[in-house]
Amino acid sequence: MTTPETTPEVTESNRMYNGKSFLESMDDGREIWFEGERIKSITTHPAFINSGRSVAGLYDSLHDPAKAETLTTVDRFGHRTHRFFAPSYSADDLLASRGAIESWQRQTFGWMGRTPDYKAAFMAQLAEGHSYYGQYADNALAWYKKSASRVMFINHVLIDPPVDRSQNRTDVRDVYVTVDREDDNGIYVTGAKMVATGSVLTHATFVAVNSGVASRMEAGRDDDMALVFMVDMNAPGLKMICRPSYEASARSPFEAPLASRFEENDSVIIFKECFVPWENVFAYRDVETTKGFYANSGFFNRYNLQSATRLSVKLDFAAGMLLMGAEATGTDQFRGVQTAIGEIIAMRETMWAMTTAMALDPEPSIGGTVVPRLLTAAASRLYATNCWHRVRDLFEAYLAGAPIYTVSGPKDLLNQELRPDIDQYFRGTGMDAEARIKLFKLIWDGMYSEFAGRHAMYERNYAGNQEQQRLDALRWAKERGDADRYRTLINDCMASYDLNGWLPGQP
Ligand SMILES: Cc1cc2nc3c(=O)[nH]c(=O)nc-3n(C[C@H](O)[C@H](O)[C@H](O)COP(=O)(O)OP(=O)(O)OC[C@H]3O[C@@H](n4cnc5c(N)ncnc54)[C@H](O)[C@@H]3O)c2cc1C
Repeated sequence: MTTPETTPEVTESNRMYNGKSFLESMDDGREIWFEGERIKSITTHPAFINSGRSVAGLYDSLHDPAKAETLTTVDRFGHRTHRFFAPSYSADDLLASRGAIESWQRQTFGWMGRTPDYKAAFMAQLAEGHSYYGQYADNALAWYKKSASRVMFINHVLIDPPVDRSQNRTDVRDVYVTVDREDDNGIYVTGAKMVATGSVLTHATFVAVNSGVASRMEAGRDDDMALVFMVDMNAPGLKMICRPSYEASARSPFEAPLASRFEENDSVIIFKECFVPWENVFAYRDVETTKGFYANSGFFNRYNLQSATRLSVKLDFAAGMLLMGAEATGTDQFRGVQTAIGEIIAMRETMWAMTTAMALDPEPSIGGTVVPRLLTAAASRLYATNCWHRVRDLFEAYLAGAPIYTVSGPKDLLNQELRPDIDQYFRGTGMDAEARIKLFKLIWDGMYSEFAGRHAMYERNYAGNQEQQRLDALRWAKERGDADRYRTLINDCMASYDLNGWLPGQP
């Protein structure tokens, strides 16, 4: 267990960001490309300004006296930080962390997957788990202190670009991240990584591999690609190329109340001879450590607590939307429609129960910490990545065509010539036309828009490919002896009878 140090003096460089200092920290010369142009200021660009403000709001809440108790704690080094940025030493700590995660998620209604606490799942564990990184352990501990004290926003890139999965990684080294060379100061890397959600508004990127990529790595062959490191987003040689921004295409909050403020651009990160100082390296030309990080660092156990809590809030939101959509359509008393709402309510109960299980039934981890049980986290991961498409199914089947019975935008409602027709023909059950259209525009944004399509894709894939999720559950059950216990149960059952009937003492 880490020996507590003397409380560090709080200065500008180790104080938790607030909204203002967070936004200021983003304008650091980083190289971001959007629609053929290099963005000069990410925090004032129309494609990202509101999402930047949404994240800034999270940082401001850390300093809100009414929320400070829920959101923050003081870690063993004396840093005040977000609760999930510090390791948990008990089930109660994990439960309090869930409360902090939930509090932030309620600010974004569950619609931002990669708030800064997502990567804290990994960073917090470095406080005690830095020794996993061997000769680079001090780097990992220093990054813990830096990220916890400032509540840094860190994205991650674990996946190779999908250019050719049939080849060995080394046969695609013209695309995949590979070390070029090293010198006394650090290493130089080149290559691209598959999408880095939210990265344009983060401080640094964490580069490693997930279990799917790890399963294709071999010692002796993949050494040049066996790397775990951090890079500041403004590092020379790091470039982000954005996908379209749904915030940019949102014409007004009335039309796109979610997309217009919760954009999390999944940009592609390209490194070109990018310099990574030694102090940012966690594993270097080390296949075993690189492969093991995903399941052994505590990250997997902990990120599922953050993701499940986030999705639980989003499921609450979905339940509210379906309830109100059915009421607005006059279908809420129909038995079939009620079953759909009931199903979503049962889903949110299941998801919340998973978060409770992950917090209250943890397993011991390094340095006296506790983390959610690996196989509970694996189960949560699988349930989470498969429930959202069912939610969308239920909306499509039971709200049927109601969400598309709408007008093009607020200008229609503001037009005095058109307004009487809108008021007469677009009203809902017990609500006027403006209220009904406002509700269904929100439902459209969440369930049917391009923003919604990206969310559906995110929910399915953010935690690794679907097959790998199942394979991981099996592999870990075998490694931990669970599979043997399942076999024992079958053998015990079969041991009670033979060809001649029940054995003595049975049934
Ligand atoms: C919206 C969104 C946001 C994302 N954000 C991030 C992010 O912030 N950071 C990040 O690192 N990643 C991110 N990702 C990437 C995500 O982690 C991957 O999409 C996910 O892990 C699946 O990997 P893949 O797309 O490479 O699919 P693959 O792994 O290529 O899988 C595709 C199919 O091929 C099969 N397959 C693959 N390899 C094999 C094999 N060797 N043998 C047999 N079958 C195989 C799989 O089982 C699957 O059926 C994001 C993805 C999305 C959609």
